[in-house]
Amino acid sequence: MKRASLCAACLAAAGLTFGQANTPRQPIIDVHMHSESLKNLKGWGPNPVTGKKAPESVEEHIQQTLAEMNRYDIVLGIATGDLETAEQFKKAAPDRIWAGPSFGIPGLDVEKLRGLYESSRLNIMGEVVAQYDGLSPSDPVLDPYFALAESLDVPACIHMGMSFPGITESSPKFRVCLGNPILLEELLNRHPKLRVWIAHMGFPYLEETIGILNVYPRVYVDTGAIDWIERPEAFASYIKTLVMYGFEKRIMFGSDQMTWPDAIGLAVEAIEKGDYLSAEQKRDILYNNAAKFLRLSPEQIAKHHGASSK
Ligand SMILES: [Zn+2]
Repeated sequence: MKRASLCAACLAAAGLTFGQANTPRQPIIDVHMHSESLKNLKGWGPNPVTGKKAPESVEEHIQQTLAEMNRYDIVLGIATGDLETAEQFKKAAPDRIWAGPSFGIPGLDVEKLRGLYESSRLNIMGEVVAQYDGLSPSDPVLDPYFALAESLDVPACIHMGMSFPGITESSPKFRVCLGNPILLEELLNRHPKLRVWIAHMGFPYLEETIGILNVYPRVYVDTGAIDWIERPEAFASYIKTLVMYGFEKRIMFGSDQMTWPDAIGLAVEAIEKGDYLSAEQKRDILYNNAAKFLRLSPEQIAKHHGASSK
């Protein structure tokens, strides 16, 4: 879909400017999406920023998320959640969704997972949310999963940083200190070939995130949730600092839409509106960095760009 093909009224309704409307959309990769269970859809309430209520079924959540992907030309999304909904999401759009199992305390059978990766039913390890279960990402109990990911060259997404205010009421083992990216260091040295990305840019652990990115060139970060939940100034300050330190080629766009598909647009627009980023830096964050990290083929990249201009 081209922005230029939209009518002026549609553009106004979508909050877009005429200046933007003259530029066809470029493809976007969203590396941080979730397939959500009915329990989460029912239990998490409305979008905390927009107040829009969550979809009422898993099917509706998938359809609304795919509709937002269409709207913003998101040509590839990484959707993680419980095994059942992650697979359901992938089946709904197999060319555009990569799936992963999200887990904290591991209860998944490693050999079963191996089969799911080898048959490409799963593509990503994580989002590993061990922080919610009181575990460091380097805890040995997680090691068989990261060893599997390393042996199969499957990228791993690890939740680092924060959660919602009051999270310990529902996740009593959650600890702020377990979101510090410095805790990745043992894991990274144990598995020197494991491709890892830090979810949420490690926010608010800026210095530790810079340290890890400096020492471990294979580590990337995603902008998930911070790009729409945090105040725009806080997001801008954080991402600007990462860019200032030279990491603009290792920041990947993520929405972390959770149970609220309308968050995808908020997240895309936070990057697009960032006048502190150059056009090239925006393209890197919205597509190129993820394409490199995920090792997309030249054919896949060409297809993404061709499809987006039709
Ligand atoms: Zn997360």
